[in-house]
Amino acid sequence: MIQTEDMEFAPRVITPENTVEDSDIDVTLRPQTLHEYIGQDKVKENLAIYIEAAKRRGEPLDHVLLYGPPGLGKTTLSGIIAHELGVNLRVTTGPAIEKPGDLVSLLTSLSDNDVLFIDEIHRLSRAVEEILYPALEDRVIDIIIGKGPAARSIRMDLKPFTLIGATTRAGQLSAPLRDRFGVIQRLELYTTPQLTDIIRRSAMILCIPCTADGAEEIAGRARGTPRIANRLLKRVRDFADVMGDGQITKEIASIALSRLEIDNLGLDGLDRRMLEMIIRGYGGGPVGLETLASAIGEESVTLEDVCEPFLMQLGFLGRTPRGRVATKLAYEHLGFKLPDHSDGAGEGQLSF
Ligand code: ADP
Repeated sequence: MIQTEDMEFAPRVITPENTVEDSDIDVTLRPQTLHEYIGQDKVKENLAIYIEAAKRRGEPLDHVLLYGPPGLGKTTLSGIIAHELGVNLRVTTGPAIEKPGDLVSLLTSLSDNDVLFIDEIHRLSRAVEEILYPALEDRVIDIIIGKGPAARSIRMDLKPFTLIGATTRAGQLSAPLRDRFGVIQRLELYTTPQLTDIIRRSAMILCIPCTADGAEEIAGRARGTPRIANRLLKRVRDFADVMGDGQITKEIASIALSRLEIDNLGLDGLDRRMLEMIIRGYGGGPVGLETLASAIGEESVTLEDVCEPFLMQLGFLGRTPRGRVATKLAYEHLGFKLPDHSDGAGEGQLSF
């Protein structure tokens, strides 16, 4: 049943992180080949060459670091790389590798040229990272056996393998770890035409009738993120089933997305609350991220990872050494009058 009155619903819909409701469709909708993977053309072209070269030489692909906001296709791309190389993929995450021993058993279980994917690699502990350095550089691991004065270290050879690390925060990666990746690729937010193609492909796989302008309407509000695009497609389908004949049209998509409080540019309740607080609460800014987060009752990481990349891409938000500022475009979009003294950046005073 659709609970459109429930306004708490809206922020969850645009969360780019994986949620439980995504997991079933995520697997079905994941492209298997580079050809099926829409957008990110530069990354695809480079990877196609590296993959082909590694295959011709019968060697593992160099270690790859993929970075960019959540939901842009890093996990998908690692599956594609393994598929194109014709090797197995092992998937894990930084926080799941708690002890050095966990990483050792993962590394020793790999077959020749396999791909090990570590999501959120910036969250590896220091002790685990230290096991990784010689593994990446010389394909060996040093294991300490025993304790105290009797302890001795044994060096073990590993089979050739490729590590693919993914992170939303490349800046938080330690320099020694970052230096051990031969290939570093940044994923960009997708354009509306690319997201339209992704939605049309997903609609076809899920057998959802969807017109071209219906797909475009959803794409335009999906914050440049395929995971959000696929999630909105599912939500809009509910409206199409209940309010129409099951087909997603521009009109149905528009009504559904407005009910979900997602506006014509893809801003949701949380984005608007953040901008409104900067404008009305702090005269347009600058205001520090922590102050802003507590003023609107949100976690600062959510604002930083979820709202900011998108609002900055729209040109609605600026970052200054003294804090966040709302721009002229943000004032205009939200219907606020620009303050007389500036182009949007205020005095940083609470001015309710
Ligand atoms: P990340 O690992 O960056 O958080 P994922 O790889 O899990 O993102 O992608 C989320 C979803 O978006 C996947 O289910 C996949 O179907 C879809 N997706 C991502 N990138 C693409 C793409 N380039 N083409 C088609 N679908 C994509």
